Amino acid sequence: MLLKNKITVQTPIVEMEGDEMTRVMWRLVKDKLLLPHLDMKLESYDLHVKNRDVTDDQVTVDAAEAIMKYGVGVKCATITPNEDRVLEYGLKKAWKSPNATIRGILDGTVFRKPITVKNIRPLVCTWKKPIIIGRHAYGDVYNNVEIFAAGAGTAELVFTPADGGRPLRKTIKEFSGPGIIQGIHNTDASIGSFAQACFTFALDQKTDLWFSTKDTISKTYDARFREIFAQVYEDKWRDKFQTAGIEYFFTLIDDAVARIMRHEGGILWALKNYDGDVMSDMIAAANGSLAMMTSVLVSPQGYFEYEAAHGTVQKHYYRHLQGEDTSTNSMAIIFAWSGCLRKRGELDSAPAVTGFADSLEEAAIETVEAGIMTGDLLAVADPAGQHRKVSTEVFIDAVAGRLQQKL
Ligand code: NAP
Ligand code: MG
Repeated sequence: MLLKNKITVQTPIVEMEGDEMTRVMWRLVKDKLLLPHLDMKLESYDLHVKNRDVTDDQVTVDAAEAIMKYGVGVKCATITPNEDRVLEYGLKKAWKSPNATIRGILDGTVFRKPITVKNIRPLVCTWKKPIIIGRHAYGDVYNNVEIFAAGAGTAELVFTPADGGRPLRKTIKEFSGPGIIQGIHNTDASIGSFAQACFTFALDQKTDLWFSTKDTISKTYDARFREIFAQVYEDKWRDKFQTAGIEYFFTLIDDAVARIMRHEGGILWALKNYDGDVMSDMIAAANGSLAMMTSVLVSPQGYFEYEAAHGTVQKHYYRHLQGEDTSTNSMAIIFAWSGCLRKRGELDSAPAVTGFADSLEEAAIETVEAGIMTGDLLAVADPAGQHRKVSTEVFIDAVAGRLQQKL
């Protein structure tokens, strides 16, 4: 076999390794799909839960800072430790979600778009085009403060102005017995850049933009989101949207959920942090599998972080550890890498790199469309087609074979 020259990626790629089954697939994707074809320098950060523990989570902060230095990064799924994980891995404590830490530092918006293939139709039969979710990636419950109130007492909300003004105080609850309290926040600056990112992305994709909150109930907090979006739209986007023939549409979250089920898709749906987290999993599942969803964090300063929308696929990992053959879908991981490489290629004006990203995605999609798929997709694929369930590794090998032919 003739060895072809590898494609050079000029600028280092910030790579964040993760946990469990996604860590296993990460290695396979790199070894079989990327490293044979690319000459790239990786700036690697090991976000394995044990290494986050050893470094007191400094490694996560370092990774976020590296993304700010180089502009583009790609992240594997990671365990967000809870009590069980603290015991399982003998951790010092239940460290914060690395995604929340990174999003907190980059202050970005996460856009999630389903990967569509011909032989898998969305479970919602009205959906003809992808529904892109724009998830605000800062604040709310992800940067919260919580207290367990062990008994009777008063919970208060206090704001002390930095300029020495009189503190604002409100009683949250007079507890007569044990209960729970949560403090959440957001900032005008972050909501403004969220709005900006969504209007930009909608215009770029030439899709309508929907935004929904619960502002009828949350008359200050959620209402602030609505006001800022409306202001940003009036100030900067109304004319551009009219020229492009696209719309900005605000509605109550419940109404949006009901409408989306009857809509044909092809829209960008902007959502607050928690709503976006939940709805993107629903959209992904309705498009076949959590593994058929791409995810990119876009910061207002123009930093990009690509990842799979799903978690570490813990159950499959335990089977893998017991020596069982797994059939775990690597599509979203492959698309995280292709997205990252395409952006890197664009920023470096390197058409060979963007071309490689296109070929990689085509190879992956054609593999599924040829009927070679992992178990999660077999269950939802067009019953009329000829499909074969393959293992985690055989699927990646099949993609590698097609990719080789394209290059
Ligand atoms: P998950 O890893 O997304 O998996 C949930 C279920 O979805 C799996 O058990 C599997 O269903 C299916 N699934 C997800 N990805 C799949 C894939 N690539 N191929 C095939 N099936 C797939 O969520 P989880 O089990 O709730 O969370 C596991 C860990 O991931 C947790 O520690 C959590 O903290 C972490 N997490 C990380 C991120 C992130 O880093 N972005 C996001 C979410 C969760 P079946 O078992 O039915 O096959
Ligand atoms: Mg989620």
